[in-house]
Amino acid sequence: MIDINQTLFDRARKVIPGGVNSPVRAFKAVGGTPKFITHAKGANFWDANDQKFIDYIGSWGPMILGHGDPRVIEAVQKAALEGFSFGAPTEREIELAEMLIHLTPSMEMVRLVSSGTEAAMSAIRLARGATGRQKLIKFEGCYHGHADALLVKAGSGLATFGNPTSAGVPPEVVKDTLVLEYNNLEQLREAFELHGKEIACLMIEPIAGNMNFVRASIPFMSLCRELCTKHHALLVFDEVMSGCRVALGSAQSVYRKDIPGFEPDMTVMGKVIGGGMPLAAFGGKAAVMEQLAPMGPVYQAGTLSGNPVATACGIATLKAISEPGFFESLGLKTQELTNGLMQSAKRNGIPLSADCQGGMFGFFLLPQLPKNYTEVMKSNSEQFNRFFHGMLSQGIYFAPALYEAGFVSAAHTSADIQETVEIADKVFKSL
Ligand SMILES: *Cc1c(COP(=O)(O)O)cnc(C)c1O
Repeated sequence: MIDINQTLFDRARKVIPGGVNSPVRAFKAVGGTPKFITHAKGANFWDANDQKFIDYIGSWGPMILGHGDPRVIEAVQKAALEGFSFGAPTEREIELAEMLIHLTPSMEMVRLVSSGTEAAMSAIRLARGATGRQKLIKFEGCYHGHADALLVKAGSGLATFGNPTSAGVPPEVVKDTLVLEYNNLEQLREAFELHGKEIACLMIEPIAGNMNFVRASIPFMSLCRELCTKHHALLVFDEVMSGCRVALGSAQSVYRKDIPGFEPDMTVMGKVIGGGMPLAAFGGKAAVMEQLAPMGPVYQAGTLSGNPVATACGIATLKAISEPGFFESLGLKTQELTNGLMQSAKRNGIPLSADCQGGMFGFFLLPQLPKNYTEVMKSNSEQFNRFFHGMLSQGIYFAPALYEAGFVSAAHTSADIQETVEIADKVFKSL
């Protein structure tokens, strides 16, 4: 049989670098030929060979309702007929901003942009502009998009700042970025002692989804808040992935249960809030947000920002996930999956740990849940790759890299989950 995916991949590589428009899609970590998707419905999509898959990527998070939800399609079709883009304000932008602020009370104002990268980059410029400081803290394993200042790995020791992780990023651009170990309280204290007066912001994924799935511990998160407040640095939550995905009130609402009154100063969002369209946002207290142009001195702009079709898609998605019981039912389904995988692995003598929150999950071929990037990378990648391909060949599409989180949507049924666990049982047996 001819693999049409292979034919398309060969053709794509002639005109698109690596054949893809975002690197992880190329299956480089796991090997093999990427699937070219033709269409999707509910919890499934189909590739160019017309093979059907249960989709646990959901476009890396946005498709929380599953694919082709009729309410969203109707809103998008109506908006498209009214016009694609005007370069002038619309009421829909206000409606989406009001919804985001209602769901995330730590934000008093938001600005809409078109990608998570843009939102995180703009939030950092704003934090620097608002505080008059240069330096920022990020954590190893957290991803905040591909802005220059954020493509950085730890330097040697706390006195030295980061090194670029990409060619084309000048060392001067990352010289103010300090990269620390996730969940390391000692190091965080030390960093603030050394640099506290110069730190504009600390940016963190509260539930990290770019080193698979790792939670910031409660004491670590409390310390982030305490030190930022003490040193007048802004605590910026990158909830591009976790926002409206782990809970209706995002990860910050999960931490508020354990840390009374807990709030970040700024929040970066994307993925779910656009429902699959290019849309992201950053927001915070009015006093900080008013530093943005045209009110304040911090410049930020976008031709397609607050796009009328994207906002329609986002609004319809947020309305649907705001219905009573939505997250309870989604969370139970995700737990059913992680529990099923853990039980199956145990039966087959494979060490596996897993965690989830709302519609986001992670599993590791490790006996215990990792707490930071170094521990995540101790996973057996060769074994993971065999698991991945074993599942894929039988129609289960998990993320093609062990450092990526997974996603369950409202369209996944208990039967989908059971089928997944049954196939996992066979694949674990063969490992
Ligand atoms: C996906 C992601 C980004 C980048 O968003 P893009 O829309 O891909 O630019 C930033 N931060 C986090 C936490 C993400 O998961």
